[in-house]
Amino acid sequence: MTVLNGRRALITGAASGIGAAIARAYAEAGAALALADLDGDGLAKVAAGLPAGTAVTRHTVDVTDADAVRAMAEAAIDAHGGIDVLVNCAGILTEVPLVEMDPATWDRMLDVDLRSVFLCCRYVVPHMVEAGGGRVINVASQLGLKGGEGLTHYSAAKAGVIGFTKALAREAARHGVLVNAIAPGPIVTPLIDGLSPQWQAAKEAELPLGRFGRPEEVAPTAVLLASDPGGNLYTGQTLGPNSGDVMP
Ligand code: NAD
Repeated sequence: MTVLNGRRALITGAASGIGAAIARAYAEAGAALALADLDGDGLAKVAAGLPAGTAVTRHTVDVTDADAVRAMAEAAIDAHGGIDVLVNCAGILTEVPLVEMDPATWDRMLDVDLRSVFLCCRYVVPHMVEAGGGRVINVASQLGLKGGEGLTHYSAAKAGVIGFTKALAREAARHGVLVNAIAPGPIVTPLIDGLSPQWQAAKEAELPLGRFGRPEEVAPTAVLLASDPGGNLYTGQTLGPNSGDVMP
């Protein structure tokens, strides 16, 4: 498959889980990659596993640091001559009941899972506008739509990502920039290792498919949204692999 031939994609959270699977799928589809994450060693491992000949740069960055994100975006744009696709996938997840949550825990979650999406868009989208178009794919979560017990901070951040996606889609469409969210249900990655076994068992029981998904089962949705003509008619949408819901 080479539907992303000639596309240059910047992927945050690319060192692990869903971001790493999107990196692999994009490389197999012919894209050049700028991979960004806090975990530089993880990025090196993902880059080493990409198909031979993939044009790839690695950017060790904390996506909550505005100056660092700006520098990372400029470096990626310079290295590849532009960025056509931005995938905001970096994220954290902790389980804390509201009555035990301190404000710093709340702030950290909102910084990593929501403000980072604003920052990466802030420093990449203007270049897409200047170039005449692009695609932004924000990785939200079903929990942003449904809410999750012990996850008020995470659910609020991911609901924020979905609202941000809809607003930016309206603002950017006239410039040829299409903006969508992917809101997966549970996917087996290190992110959910920390959730309680009770939470995991209850979640699995409510899924129509009866199982957690795998990162490589989410990545094709990100390929679709980045590609022509498959992604051409999507903007402001939220796609939900393993969402647990059946459309009416
Ligand atoms: P993961 O832990 O495997 O990957 C997350 C990556 O984000 C890691 O490589 C981590 O180093 C990076 N990261 C964290 N904080 C960072 C920071 N400040 N700066 C830069 N990088 C940072 O988890 P995953 O499951 O692949 O999660 C990817 C995205 O998918 C997240 O946004 C998560 O909320 C979302 N998501 C996951 C699930 C799931 O069930 N796994 C479901 C819905 C949504």
